[in-house]
Amino acid sequence: MQSRVVNNSYFSGLADGKAAAAKEVAQLKAEINQLNATLAEAQTKLKASAANIKPKVVPVPKPVTVLKPIQLDVTTLKDIPIRCKDCKCEFVHTVADQLKFASRGLTKKPKRCYECRKARREGGSYIAPCPLQ
Ligand SMILES: [Zn+2]
Repeated sequence: MQSRVVNNSYFSGLADGKAAAAKEVAQLKAEINQLNATLAEAQTKLKASAANIKPKVVPVPKPVTVLKPIQLDVTTLKDIPIRCKDCKCEFVHTVADQLKFASRGLTKKPKRCYECRKARREGGSYIAPCPLQ
């Protein structure tokens, strides 16, 4: 008789425990659902903000080229007449200019007259009054 009572209370306790566990499981499931909903919301927000992120454009610095001075034979140098690309005016690439260019390592002849070069440096284009036209 004694053992039966113990058994009953044991089983009823077991049933209570089972119910409590089921309740806990239900609570945890609800919690998981809530967390999943929060996670989904956060992921949606993250996707939306990621779409708004624009790649940062970093300007690539121009490589600095240091040109070596060019040795010119001064005895063979002559003034060179050149027609300016911009104002079509003929200008003289003088020996002095050629030496200056060579000292900076420049091998090409100027395409524009002094006035047009200056205007380009300052931004814009200058059409010098050409005395030949
Ligand atoms: Zn010019």
